[in-house]
Amino acid sequence: MEVKRICQWCGKPFTAKKTTTNYCSHQCASQGYKHRMRERRLELRELQDLIEVKSKLDHQDYFTFAQAAQLMGVSRQYIYKLVKEDKLRASRISARMSIIRRADIELMLKTRPYERRRVKDDLDITEYYTAEQISEKYKVSQKWIWAYTRENNIPKIRIHQFNYYSKKHIDAAFAKYE
Ligand SMILES: [Zn+2]
Repeated sequence: MEVKRICQWCGKPFTAKKTTTNYCSHQCASQGYKHRMRERRLELRELQDLIEVKSKLDHQDYFTFAQAAQLMGVSRQYIYKLVKEDKLRASRISARMSIIRRADIELMLKTRPYERRRVKDDLDITEYYTAEQISEKYKVSQKWIWAYTRENNIPKIRIHQFNYYSKKHIDAAFAKYE
């Protein structure tokens, strides 16, 4: 039996006797094998590094922002954001160095449990405008509404990808202009 195959190492087509043959020659087979072993060793080393970092963090009580990010599995930018928004406490110990205590991470997690927003139960949709309604009533573009409501923190809710804006706040905003 003869089958046309592409060599997995050099990429050249060749004729194989078995469907399980992946290389055109012994040389390519040996190169391919070495390559696979190298990749596997690298993967293993990366995994070991990761485990090492993780176990080191598990025994630490103070973290840099980068370490806190690693510990929580989030980006460093996200840690900065949490600190800036006063959700996570950090101590600046020098101009270039801030640290976060493990206790403060735990405190943040404890005091800010995830609460599912119960939209359907306690929401009166007639208290809200759609963007179309605002646009029609006040003759403004939807782009303007998007920018204005963001800038002024107009309460809004999102249901099935549509935004609804608080009537009270929108009416109050336009009352100023009239
Ligand atoms: Zn080959």
